[in-house]
Amino acid sequence: MVYISLYKNKIEKRSVIMKGKIKYFFVLALAVFVFVSILPVFNVSKPLFADSTSDVNAFVTRFYQQCLDRQPDAGGLAGWVNALLNHSISGATVANGFINSIEFVNKNLSNDAYLQVMYRAFFDRGPDPQGYSDWMGQLNAGNSRQYVLAGFVNSTEFRNFCAKFGIDSGSLNCGSGANVSSSTAASTGGVVPIFAFHSVMPGSGYEYEISTGLLNELCSLLKQRGYQTISFQDLFAAVNGGKTLPLKPVILTTDDGYQSVYQYAFPIVQSYGFRMTLFITTGLIGSSDGDRRTNLFDAGSYPTRAMLIWPEVAAMAAAGFEIQSHGTDHSRLGSMSYDQVLAQLQASKAAIQGSVGGVCNVVAWPFNSFSAASVSALTAAGYGAGVAYSDGALNTRAINWGAIQRIPVQASTSTDLLASYLP
Ligand SMILES: [Zn+2]
Repeated sequence: MVYISLYKNKIEKRSVIMKGKIKYFFVLALAVFVFVSILPVFNVSKPLFADSTSDVNAFVTRFYQQCLDRQPDAGGLAGWVNALLNHSISGATVANGFINSIEFVNKNLSNDAYLQVMYRAFFDRGPDPQGYSDWMGQLNAGNSRQYVLAGFVNSTEFRNFCAKFGIDSGSLNCGSGANVSSSTAASTGGVVPIFAFHSVMPGSGYEYEISTGLLNELCSLLKQRGYQTISFQDLFAAVNGGKTLPLKPVILTTDDGYQSVYQYAFPIVQSYGFRMTLFITTGLIGSSDGDRRTNLFDAGSYPTRAMLIWPEVAAMAAAGFEIQSHGTDHSRLGSMSYDQVLAQLQASKAAIQGSVGGVCNVVAWPFNSFSAASVSALTAAGYGAGVAYSDGALNTRAINWGAIQRIPVQASTSTDLLASYLP
């Protein structure tokens, strides 16, 4: 009896302890659940960079729907999604790409319609009265749409929105914050197409080399449509100082610095009364014909091509062509440290200004590779802009100075496609 009573007592004690443990377990589970539920608010629920294809697909698809009023095309969607997944771009890059795309710009939205898209696309809500009237006031006071876009993209609300999809929001340069004067590029609605090609030969030998025929077709098309070439210095002056640009401005650019640009492109471009901007890889520019280098950075991938020498660069500079930087050795600057990028920007600037004079203050990112670190080195190195190698015509009302967009011209590019970029 005594034994049974003691035993019963033990069982009851154990039962009480178990009940306590179960209660503790449920409280802990509830706490974990609540914590996980509010994690997105603190932007730590997922890695800083996107790693889920379905989330990233949903993120990009929204921009097609909200900004362009359509479903994504397969190629465009894959391009954005892959770039987000391989961490080469951020949410801000996508936002900037859509808002500055020729498709969106061509909608010619009113300030009201523009702001409605901003709230819907970046905050997933309609405007609140106070915020809306603040932004409208800034636009009416002459601040640029890039300034407004940067305000939305750099906000905590957009950062939290991106975090829901596991995407780092990044940030956007607000540009000068000022409008290009109304007389600038009046016939194109402020759009300045910038075309980008590489080597130019009588017959193209690979995709990144265009034929002299295609260059002639591009120049002929521009001439027929009334376009006039400008330089990046002209563009800067227009944006910052109100310089008046031609009614239909265009910039022609060529990357790397091939001898074929001097042999073939130079006379063709001049024959139309046009000028061109050369982005040269300064470490591959020899001093004389006996010191001529080749495209070492393409070795194993593309045919060997001779590079320019300084006397040829100087001859084109003397004819009014603009000489700018493509780095010193064609490295992927987006993969390098701030200090390494700074060194390349400074050395290439010194080489160009020391050899042919003029002002070197723009870099075309080799391999279209750039990063937050490389972009932040621009100002310290005395540069005003970096240029990308990606689709789209530039809208001067909304310039991303770290990666100004260009229109690639390659062997397979049709003149119809080139024409489609001309407002
Ligand atoms: Zn290049």
